[in-house]
Amino acid sequence: MQIPNRVKISGLEYVVEETPHLTYGQDYNGEIHYDQLKINLRPINRSVMQRVFIHECLHGIFDNLGHKEHDEKHIYPGRCQSVGRARLI
Ligand SMILES: [Zn+2]
Repeated sequence: MQIPNRVKISGLEYVVEETPHLTYGQDYNGEIHYDQLKINLRPINRSVMQRVFIHECLHGIFDNLGHKEHDEKHIYPGRCQSVGRARLI
């Protein structure tokens, strides 16, 4: 799967950027900023990045549906919650 530079989630276009500088710090592989319409992905193993990308998109979908305080477990159950030492957010 090719990770796009932009993705539309429920009509809102998010910019997708690969960057080692995540707001949430070194312990995370990805993050979504709803207010800035931005998804940041740490440049790591490609298949992990793809999973992180989908994970962040699901956050965007949940948020857009009004589930602002959605449970992380609903998006990434079980073993997928941690990728190595880093986590998703
Ligand atoms: Zn998450």
